[in-house]
Amino acid sequence: MSVQSGQQIARLRETVARLHGELTRYGLVAWTAGNVSARVPGRDLMVIKPSGVDYDDLCADNMVVCDLDGIVVEGDHAPSSDTAAHAYVYRAMPEVGGVVHTHSTYATAWAARGEAIPCHLTAQADEFGGEIPIGPFALIGGDDIGKGIVSTLTGHRSPAVLMRNHGVFTIGRDARSAVKAAVMCEDVARTAHLAHALGQPVPIDPADVDALYDRYQNVYGQRAASPTTT
Ligand SMILES: [Zn+2]
Repeated sequence: MSVQSGQQIARLRETVARLHGELTRYGLVAWTAGNVSARVPGRDLMVIKPSGVDYDDLCADNMVVCDLDGIVVEGDHAPSSDTAAHAYVYRAMPEVGGVVHTHSTYATAWAARGEAIPCHLTAQADEFGGEIPIGPFALIGGDDIGKGIVSTLTGHRSPAVLMRNHGVFTIGRDARSAVKAAVMCEDVARTAHLAHALGQPVPIDPADVDALYDRYQNVYGQRAASPTTT
């Protein structure tokens, strides 16, 4: 492995370890559930959380480097039990640089009902471009979860999918973008839940959803930085 590639992986180990702190900060995970991964740009590799390690103990050194078949190439720990799903997404969607998985409460309550989150909020139009879709039921192990994520999100504006009876998977051009999508998914799921519980939410004209999405994705934010920076 070249020095440059080694430094790139070292930086991604730091980034992925630190981003796990956002999952706990926003209350998206319980115990050791949930995980973040990042693709190593230009390499068929990814950096992912180790399996079963407490969030407080996650650090750059115990992140695991796997190839895109989920085989460990660097690290002392077994990788996350969701590694196969992350690897499948990276193999199938070359534009994806980060993947996140949580069982965040409100979003997963929609997943438990097998119900997509309809777009009744401008913030949802901004980030997701419409509804947050439901993916199929799939058992862990093998490629079924990965296939369900990819088949649901391919050609869809949403970077988040609610896998039925399971939880949230999000994608992004990097790991930070995927973490942001996971945070925003839970935020809109909670508000949508309350709105539905209290009455009938008012629809947004689809043309306005399009306009909101276009502005947020292409105009909003600091132009010199990532368009997902708020
Ligand atoms: Zn899960």
